[in-house]
Amino acid sequence: MSHEGMRICWTCQKPIRPGEKTRKTDVFSASGPGATVEYHAPLCPVTPPPYQRGPVPRSH
Ligand SMILES: [Zn+2]
Repeated sequence: MSHEGMRICWTCQKPIRPGEKTRKTDVFSASGPGATVEYHAPLCPVTPPPYQRGPVPRSH
């Protein structure tokens, strides 16, 4: 039994329960070569954009 910790859906940011159907996709990270993330297969059919979401600090 592998210990992967809690998995979070990349799209809705909700925890993925063991045995729940998910899809995996590769995303690019600014701090690394990228990572594989999971998201709900039936609930989150929309493929997330190939970049990390979140507030981006902008200095004008
Ligand atoms: Zn989801």
